[in-house]
Amino acid sequence: MKDFFKNLLSEDDWLIKEKNWERRLQGVRESLFTLGNGYLGSRGVLEEIPYDANQGTYIAGLYDKAGAQVTELVNLPNPIKFKIVVQGEKVDVVAMDVLSQERILDMKKGLLKRKALFKNSKRQRFDYQSLRFFSKDDPHLGIMRIYFTPLDSGADILVESSIDASVTNKGILSEGRKEHFGITKLTSFKDINYLCVETFESKVSVGYAALLKVKKGGKSFTTHKRSFHLKLGKGETVCFTKILSIYTSKEVKNVEKKAINSLRKSVVIGFDGLLNKHFKAWERSWDFSDISIKPDKNIQKVLRFNLYHLLISGNEFNDRVSIGARTLSGEGYRGHIFWDAEIFILPFFVYTNPVVAKNMLLYRFRILDEARMNARVEGYKGALFAWESADSGFEVTPKWSRDLDGRVIKIHTGEMEDHIVGDIAYAVCQYYEATDDRQFMLKAGLELLFETARFWASRGQFSRDKSVYHLKHVIGPDEFHVNVDDNAYTNVLAGFNLANAVRFYRQNKRESRRVFRKLIKKINLSEKEVRDWEKIAGSIAISRDEKNNVIESFCGYFQKKYVPIKNLDHNFMPLLPKTVNLKDIGQTQFVKQADVVMLLHLFPEDYSFEEKRDNFLYYNKRTLHESSLSPSIYAAVGWDTGNYHKAMHYFHYALYTDLKNYCGNTQEGIHAACLGGIWQAVIYGFAGVRATGGVISFNPHLPSEIESMKFKLRYRGGFFSISLRKNNFEILPRFKKRGKIKVKVWDKIYMLLSNKGYVFKQSPRGDKLC
Ligand code: BGC
Ligand code: BGC
Repeated sequence: MKDFFKNLLSEDDWLIKEKNWERRLQGVRESLFTLGNGYLGSRGVLEEIPYDANQGTYIAGLYDKAGAQVTELVNLPNPIKFKIVVQGEKVDVVAMDVLSQERILDMKKGLLKRKALFKNSKRQRFDYQSLRFFSKDDPHLGIMRIYFTPLDSGADILVESSIDASVTNKGILSEGRKEHFGITKLTSFKDINYLCVETFESKVSVGYAALLKVKKGGKSFTTHKRSFHLKLGKGETVCFTKILSIYTSKEVKNVEKKAINSLRKSVVIGFDGLLNKHFKAWERSWDFSDISIKPDKNIQKVLRFNLYHLLISGNEFNDRVSIGARTLSGEGYRGHIFWDAEIFILPFFVYTNPVVAKNMLLYRFRILDEARMNARVEGYKGALFAWESADSGFEVTPKWSRDLDGRVIKIHTGEMEDHIVGDIAYAVCQYYEATDDRQFMLKAGLELLFETARFWASRGQFSRDKSVYHLKHVIGPDEFHVNVDDNAYTNVLAGFNLANAVRFYRQNKRESRRVFRKLIKKINLSEKEVRDWEKIAGSIAISRDEKNNVIESFCGYFQKKYVPIKNLDHNFMPLLPKTVNLKDIGQTQFVKQADVVMLLHLFPEDYSFEEKRDNFLYYNKRTLHESSLSPSIYAAVGWDTGNYHKAMHYFHYALYTDLKNYCGNTQEGIHAACLGGIWQAVIYGFAGVRATGGVISFNPHLPSEIESMKFKLRYRGGFFSISLRKNNFEILPRFKKRGKIKVKVWDKIYMLLSNKGYVFKQSPRGDKLC
């Protein structure tokens, strides 16, 4: 049977293929094949919704609590449901025999294509092909086209095209399945079907307008019927086109009117027109985000897979939402926003599409009042951002959970994982450094920096002699050790936060703009307070073993028991020795994920090469990588410290985290932080890009399997096109203002003209290639 959509597809290194139907992989593949546009995410479920499918349709920022321990991202009605029944038998991968099934995710164009051949109990075969996308051009639109052909005889088919409102949030052991909305309207206007639901507690209305076009034997008609019969001759193909439009009361007042009007407009544009607009929008996105790698086709494709998932998570349209730990591809971590957003994901957007990065930071700014309240409740000043947050800034970390063995476990992260406060401040500074966006700083960035600094100044205590400032009872990124004092990561971030608040205060004071003076007045900030911050920033406790250069992860860590890692899993990743009970892991030196190593990554210039190398090697022996946040950072730091083989091992592992379901829970959604970590390993690691103090530096060093790498980076209103090869590289700066751009290449500073290409030869590290 002819492949109806073949000509639409991109070249092979943009395609992720599923070559068969495997029931056990259904949930994982649904996550992998998620479509979206930052506004909405739709899991890659099969249209017929087979047995055990996990339908998932999520809108960024749309949460509800009803019936759950804490607020969660709502699993909304699924608009892509489409069912064909032939004489009582459903055309479905579980109900019929599947003679072949292939799905292709076209990452360049944001399309999901399917071609399947079914056989029913009477040995009649049916060809089924579908294509769908959620528009990147107009994020409220979804489009699906299906071709169906009975191959062996004529067929009387029943078609059901609906918006499935029977979905619930997936249950967890202690809560069961949860309904978060009720239907408030179900009606039809001429050819259009309209469904409106409202969430129970957050009271958000979500309206869906949908329409189905049917084309058969040269005739076509449009129907609003949810179910109807059709007669097809042997070999006769019918084509269905479903167009839908979705709006919520969060964006518009009259949801119904907006959804219906927008649907009508798209019908006029038509399938091809909508497809073209969607393609163009994707082309614009990839123009700045793609990293083209040669000659390794596998790295290329999988790297793009990770970038694709970042791209469908970034929201350009709304400055009230950020990106959850599992993007909009599943319900893992209930759609909550963690430090994953600022520390792992944000850098990608800062350098490829700063509007998204700004929106992520504005999300924090919008919830600043709640963060202030969190601080008050705990007896502190300033702003205490929640470890996990949702639509408000109040803490939504669950307080307990039930383990698979039925044990109730208390969760302390919400009470103690305060480094999130410094992470946000770090992200504000990073965004500003790369964009020079003063408007943002005056509107939001400075207030975020000052209120977070205030928090740290009230959170800790000075030692008796007033020389050292301690931050006690915290959890660092390494969550194996709960309630520790002076976690190095937390302390350094707090120090950075305070020092930068002082720096920005002084700089803005000199410029003395009216907005700044207003801000100081509004938050009642005094010179004395800023001087206190300066004193604290310079006194933060950091303990290290001077003999072997190692930073102590927290006070008392060196006294914990060292147990060597003897066994690796089949991916050569460390396993917890059988002699250690998971319950007692806090008594050992095992760390869950990059903690001290995270510092080496975030502040590479603050540590000498030897210090970074020694810390990397020390903690590498003790890290279990029990979080998807870890391997990409070990890849980047390993690379920076000359541990090339280890770095490449971690890099490959991180690269395939979701495609190979290494964490065993990809069915709950894509690991967002890992996607961002991979981008950092490539751009910060291999290309050696960093921006500090108004200078952007390049220190490239490619792994042996990569001969050349090309990418673009947005920087301070312009951009660089960069082309790296083994022993030379080219920078083409493109900036609106003509003039000189300051860059550091290896260890020398150059002034580049904004419209000329520059070639740099011979990496000083060239001889160290592995
Ligand atoms: C990690 C955290 C992370 C969270 C969400 C946890 O397993 O330890 O660092 O923020 O997952 O991804
Ligand atoms: C994560 C924590 C999180 C908790 C509750 C744990 O698995 O490691 O960071 O706060 O789950 O969501």
